[in-house]
Amino acid sequence: MTMRHSGIGMTSARTRQRMIDRLRDQGIVDEAVLAAMYEVPRHLFVDEALASRAYDDVSLPINYEQTISQPYIVARMIEVLRASTTRPIKKVLEIGTGCGYQAAVLAHVFPEVYSMERIEPLYQRAKSKLHDLAINNVKLSYADGSAGLPDAALFDGIIMAAAAPVMLAALREQLAVGGRMVLPVGRQEQWLYLVEREAQGFRESRLEPVKFVPLLMGKA
Ligand code: SAH
Repeated sequence: MTMRHSGIGMTSARTRQRMIDRLRDQGIVDEAVLAAMYEVPRHLFVDEALASRAYDDVSLPINYEQTISQPYIVARMIEVLRASTTRPIKKVLEIGTGCGYQAAVLAHVFPEVYSMERIEPLYQRAKSKLHDLAINNVKLSYADGSAGLPDAALFDGIIMAAAAPVMLAALREQLAVGGRMVLPVGRQEQWLYLVEREAQGFRESRLEPVKFVPLLMGKA
């Protein structure tokens, strides 16, 4: 059957609905996140040859040794960001644009999104992809995101798509009071952390084991 490999049907509403059902099974409950992930055409963010696997619960290569994160982790991180009880989360910074998929989901959920990428061709591709999809509330920067984006700070939320070996202190200073940051930390063994900015100081919680590409320094 050549049809199976042509991608026809793989990108249908039913395929996307299956991904949403699976996310629910995995414990995602935030309806706004589920609706956004139903809307964003994930298959358009990967190479055509991989389109038939775009809605599987896996990370996939996007070249330059980088990956598009698996749907579960995208959903989980955004759900954790949104779960603030103290401050409405509106203005969000993502570090590690990659192919731009998570930025597109963020743009459906939050009014104002900033995203940074250190690899120029990925930045360029994400930029044209978001433009093609008429997503215009994301400001992309081609820059090393490890120091955050001081010019646009403070943020209600910060989300990191690459793992720093240790918690980066500079970044959390760019959180508004009541804001929150979701990030993977570690080398071989990595954990997802939530950092909440309180009136005085920060509260850190360790959430679950994860596997991310490393945060790298400088531009490429
Ligand atoms: N958000 C993406 C995931 C991309 S993978 C998605 O939707 O699937 C992580 C990305 O972080 C890679 O593209 C990598 O180049 C980028 N990255 C790593 N270190 C970085 C840094 N210091 N600044 C900005 N981007 C970085």
